[in-house]
Amino acid sequence: MEEERATINRERLVNSFRELVAIDSPSLKERNMADELTRRLLALGFSVREDNAGSRIGGNSGNLFATLRGGDALPPLLFCAHMDTVQPARSKRAILENDGTIHSAGDTVLGADDVSAISAILEAVQSLQEQRLLKRDIEVLFSVSEETYGTGAAVFDCSVIRSKEAYVPDYDGAHGQAVVSAPTILAFRAEITGKASHAGFAPERGVNAISAAARAVNRLKLGRVSPGLTRNIGTIHGGLLTNIVPDACVMEGEIRGEKHEKALRLLQQTQKAFQSVCDAFGAGLAFSSKCLVQAYHTPADAAVVSRYFRVCKAYGHKTEAVSTFGGSDNNILAQRGISGIVLPSAMHACHSGAEYTTVEELCRLAELLAGLMQT
Ligand SMILES: [Zn+2]
Repeated sequence: MEEERATINRERLVNSFRELVAIDSPSLKERNMADELTRRLLALGFSVREDNAGSRIGGNSGNLFATLRGGDALPPLLFCAHMDTVQPARSKRAILENDGTIHSAGDTVLGADDVSAISAILEAVQSLQEQRLLKRDIEVLFSVSEETYGTGAAVFDCSVIRSKEAYVPDYDGAHGQAVVSAPTILAFRAEITGKASHAGFAPERGVNAISAAARAVNRLKLGRVSPGLTRNIGTIHGGLLTNIVPDACVMEGEIRGEKHEKALRLLQQTQKAFQSVCDAFGAGLAFSSKCLVQAYHTPADAAVVSRYFRVCKAYGHKTEAVSTFGGSDNNILAQRGISGIVLPSAMHACHSGAEYTTVEELCRLAELLAGLMQT
């Protein structure tokens, strides 16, 4: 990278991070965050469009898609981050320690997932603009409801995206790592219908739905089924009273697989196991499933990976292609034909009250994003 490097405004970045963290933005309630980000994007010269994702998924805000003219010397690039946070997320406060650690007050998440990415993207653009170093068009997608398996990005019309490469900072890792693969995640629900009867007077006349469910679960290997493939039963509900043979039991679970087809095969096997047990019990079964996100594999030699690695090396970071076993908006973008990677985004212990970031990592993130925008 021979370009002149952008200098990141550390203080502005930290202030911006803290201001954005203070905005409540749980999934489906991103309105205030979207309004503030629209203001900030417009001030930077972006044109901003909000789609109708809110009304389509039951939220109060759409996805924001913003484009900035920077020049045609280089092809446009897409930067994507999500506006929502997991709960508890009301009245978040970012507390800055002397050593540069930033954490919440402990009673909420911090929201560095994914405000770190949002504030770093904005800072990277602003620094490049001020220093007259921006030579390409930048596209930004700030999505809603990523934390609910990318349901916001899933309804976004990706045909408006001109970029062929997407950078999605949304990962707890070390700068230099690029997430090049993520799994398919399937959710399933098994509703078992037995027959109610008095547990003492006429147990013979009943069909115990809980017993059938237990037998079915017993037949399934749970946890890591094989390398790159997991299955879990996460909830079970059934029965009314201890003196009634229960006529209903509902179980919900998920399957994750590095390979989409393998995950689908395990789903079929799961349904079969429930069906054969229910048949043996004389119980009914309603089995339903849903593909939450589909696996992607970005080749290690793809342009999106080599561009990121080039920038990381220039900034002294050790590069590494890694896999994750969680989903992100990149699963959705990949399905729409956009070649992307997920990047570490200065967040740690996410989805907990212990979530934190550091000033140093935030600055390094903004620096790398600015580097990408220039390279
Ligand atoms: Zn995230």
